[in-house]
Amino acid sequence: MVQFNKDYYQILGVPRDAKAEDIKKKYRQLALKYHPDRNPGDKEAEERFKEASEAYEVLRDPQKRRLYDQYGHEGLRDTGFTGFRDFSDIFGAFGDIFEDLFGFGGPEPSRAGPQAGVDRRYDLDLDFVDAALGTEINIEITRNVNCRACQGTGVRPGTHKIPCPQCGGRGHIIRSHGFLRISTTCPRCQGRGEIIAEPCSKCRGTGRVPEKKKLSVRIPPGVDNGTHLIMSGEGDEGVHGGPPGDLYIVMHVRPHELFDREGYNLRLKLPISFVQAALGDRVTVPTLNGQKEVSIQPGTQPGEIIRLKGEGIPVLKGYGRGDLLIETHVVIPRHLSTRQKELLQEFAAEEDVKMTGNPHAPSSEGLLKRLWRSLRAMV
Ligand SMILES: [Zn+2]
Ligand SMILES: [Zn+2]
Repeated sequence: MVQFNKDYYQILGVPRDAKAEDIKKKYRQLALKYHPDRNPGDKEAEERFKEASEAYEVLRDPQKRRLYDQYGHEGLRDTGFTGFRDFSDIFGAFGDIFEDLFGFGGPEPSRAGPQAGVDRRYDLDLDFVDAALGTEINIEITRNVNCRACQGTGVRPGTHKIPCPQCGGRGHIIRSHGFLRISTTCPRCQGRGEIIAEPCSKCRGTGRVPEKKKLSVRIPPGVDNGTHLIMSGEGDEGVHGGPPGDLYIVMHVRPHELFDREGYNLRLKLPISFVQAALGDRVTVPTLNGQKEVSIQPGTQPGEIIRLKGEGIPVLKGYGRGDLLIETHVVIPRHLSTRQKELLQEFAAEEDVKMTGNPHAPSSEGLLKRLWRSLRAMV
């Protein structure tokens, strides 16, 4: 019987003159949000799901909608509309909506033959170094399996299915369009001719229950953001002896505070002083495999790359490794002591002698002269 006295338009959140396609769209949104598979054990979501389904059942049918518009809930009394007893009723009636509603992990339309289980997706957050060098991680997944209590039939143990009241057990219904009589598959039983009278309490008539499972996942070296690992057979259990689905593990690699990844190469920004850049030095840098000593050549320019071969990321499912690219950042001091200034001025004077041959010319003047000379040469 009609259980809800709330306004159907309000439940779906559509105006009273909403078009059929808008009503369908709104119902899909609500069904997705409150779907029992997505809200296991949530009574509130369950009520909202049933409520929306009932509203949709009435508003999608022009005749029922007209009666409802005119007489409210009273108007539906003689239409044979009984509301929904359980989820399997809802899935049976709107199977077509749910079929394309869920890509990963949706309910399977329950036809008689064997069906493969649905593939599942698991999003895995990974540490940068673990992704680069590989690791082993324990995860817990939820997948749908056949209900052990009813062997996946959805029928309460000890009871049986009954002939479908909508089609009288024929599995199809006849609709008249003027002179035409069209036979279509019964939407209530989806052509099976029978429905569940007393649903199994454990799976609420769906024949399926969510089950948690712990898995150990071996992450191979070299995985990157968005890499998929497929664990065969770890998706939903098959129906009626069908094979299980697969589990897709999608990697989300956290960025590293020092390294940037470029394909299989790593980039490291290395700050060096201008003295180190000019005179050269040996410095210690971090790599994926611990610290390494590298030489800075005398006369290194800002942004110059020191390449450490084979210190990058191992090639996924391949051989070899990328390189570590060390990008030099020459740091100019902001504050100098008096002594440091003197030394640099001496240094500048020395440079000027080399450039101009005049030991007394200030260095900036020498530079300007050279600029003028080269500009004139260009004209
Ligand atoms: Zn039927
Ligand atoms: Zn069951």
